[in-house]
Amino acid sequence: MKILVVNCGSSSLKYQLIDMEGERVLAKGLCERIGIDGRLKHSGKAEYTADAEMKNHTDAIRLVLDALLNKDHGVLNSIGEVNAVGHRVVHGGEYFSQSVIVTGEVKKAIEECCALAPLHNPPNLIGINACEELMPGVPQAVVFDTAFHQTMPPKAYLYAIPYELYEKRKIRKYGFHGTSHKYVAQRAAAMLGKPLESLKIITCHLGNGASVCAVEYGKSIDTSMGLTPLEGLAMGTRSGSLDPAIIPFLVEKERISVKDVENILNKKSGVLGLSGVSSDFRDIEDAKKQGNSRAVIALDLFHYRVAKTVGEYAAAMNGADAVVFTAGLGENSMSSRAEVCSYLGYLGLRADSQKNNTRGKEADFATDDSKVRALVIPTNEELMIARDTAGLLAGR
Ligand code: AMP
Repeated sequence: MKILVVNCGSSSLKYQLIDMEGERVLAKGLCERIGIDGRLKHSGKAEYTADAEMKNHTDAIRLVLDALLNKDHGVLNSIGEVNAVGHRVVHGGEYFSQSVIVTGEVKKAIEECCALAPLHNPPNLIGINACEELMPGVPQAVVFDTAFHQTMPPKAYLYAIPYELYEKRKIRKYGFHGTSHKYVAQRAAAMLGKPLESLKIITCHLGNGASVCAVEYGKSIDTSMGLTPLEGLAMGTRSGSLDPAIIPFLVEKERISVKDVENILNKKSGVLGLSGVSSDFRDIEDAKKQGNSRAVIALDLFHYRVAKTVGEYAAAMNGADAVVFTAGLGENSMSSRAEVCSYLGYLGLRADSQKNNTRGKEADFATDDSKVRALVIPTNEELMIARDTAGLLAGR
């Protein structure tokens, strides 16, 4: 069974074609600058890069299908070989607690969630429509970033604002990166050789966007992102949680609009805003090595907040069996993992600096006598999407 995984951003589209037999990636690639000019980077039987006009996502999907069918760099003889398409959708609101096959009603619900994720859900929907148009008869499935967190109890997902606002506007914590948190929690259980349903796991997805999740007995019971992906940890360019009174204060004192403040908090804050160096952690780590004091502060604050959130979730679950590090920084930065773990001695977590000297592959870097395991697990959201899509197809 071959599944095409599609992840549409506002001006980009990432894809992977996965053969579920052996879960092998047959081809993958990226369309960039959709609606501007257009560039395709494809890797299949051979590498292929092309500047090609992409007026919209339908053009982009058409070029992806051409690349997959190409006799030199493609991997398919006909589109009929694709059994289903799995789409990443960012926001499923309260409608979806699991992945589903696309129907008219599903699309309507995704559309209703556009208000909650105005940058993400519209391109996700466009991608679904484009695939339906260009691959008629091929089943389409959707996998939501929010779905895994729908198991949170009201005490975790409600904000302490008038309840009527939750009822009327659906203002609540939804959480994101769910596909990643779920995948690494499953892998953690496999690494520990124990059933997921018996474990308390704290998963730290530390990339450009960053969130922590408390996975109790296989279910998300709390997570750090909220109504939007702005809440929680400090991130590459996002502020994470702050005193909400800062927003009117800035509007008044800086004489700027709420939209301007939103832009500052989403695009100019986080470790970029603090360090003044970059949103890329590698650049900030380099600046720290050269003695840049603001880079030191940015990294210190970032690690401190991750560690504090891990502490919250250890409290929420009355302990933890493992802390997992994933995504760009979590998988690759041994210094970040070491810094976060340096706060977690009280939990009984002790990192082994030798074992922590690892990058991009699964590893347990806790000392042998550590009561809590410290794990590095590369995330694989595309594989999760393909697995869910294959499962839905099998269940039809
Ligand atoms: P992601 O959003 O998961 O792709 O993660 C992107 C972030 O991971 C960027 O800020 C990168 O700087 C960071 N990252 C990737 N590789 C490394 C590395 N070797 N050391 C430190 N940070 C890294």
